Amino acid sequence: MTVNEQVNRTTVCNGERFRLYLDESTIRDRVAELGRQISADYEGLRPVLVGVLNGAFIFLADLMREISGDCEVDFIKLSSYGESKISNGVVTELKAIDANLQGKHVLIIEDIVDTGLSMKYLCDRIQENGPASVKAVTLLHKAAATKVDVPLDYVGFEIDNLFVIGYGLDYSQLGRNLKDIYILDEDQ
Ligand code: 5GP
Repeated sequence: MTVNEQVNRTTVCNGERFRLYLDESTIRDRVAELGRQISADYEGLRPVLVGVLNGAFIFLADLMREISGDCEVDFIKLSSYGESKISNGVVTELKAIDANLQGKHVLIIEDIVDTGLSMKYLCDRIQENGPASVKAVTLLHKAAATKVDVPLDYVGFEIDNLFVIGYGLDYSQLGRNLKDIYILDEDQ
């Protein structure tokens, strides 16, 4: 594929056009970097990675394999945007965490932080379990959309304030299987 074809790559999801934003190799390199950083920071601490379903499952699977020391995994599921591209501002829990997090070093693994409401909810919720520490990891961060002040300890990419799909992120359940990340094409 030529550079021009790569830059102009688009995909259609649920009838709307998205253009290539972060390609597979860029994502892979950054995830490996985050893995190295977390491996160094958590050496000997056996962290528990808590993935936020559904969007974070691909990022979590790749990130976990870039962490060299012992680590555990669990999942939580929150309400999603459903058919919409905009948050309704209400966070509800659809699946609770199973692991006992008492005294554990917890890393919350999100695909994207938009308003920050979900990440704030998760940090507060996990603190109730008496962990030794809680840190937030997100592959993507839309700083211009973030309304809630929540510390993000590891951020893959700061991105524009537009809807994205791919690499686990969906638009009304489609698009999760795209290997690259695409952003809504406003010119369509
Ligand atoms: P927040 O609570 O920060 O507003 O939103 C967090 C959740 O909203 C994410 O875990 C993700 O499920 C969804 N979300 C936010 N922005 C996007 C986006 O651009 N694309 C997709 N597919 N989901 C998003």
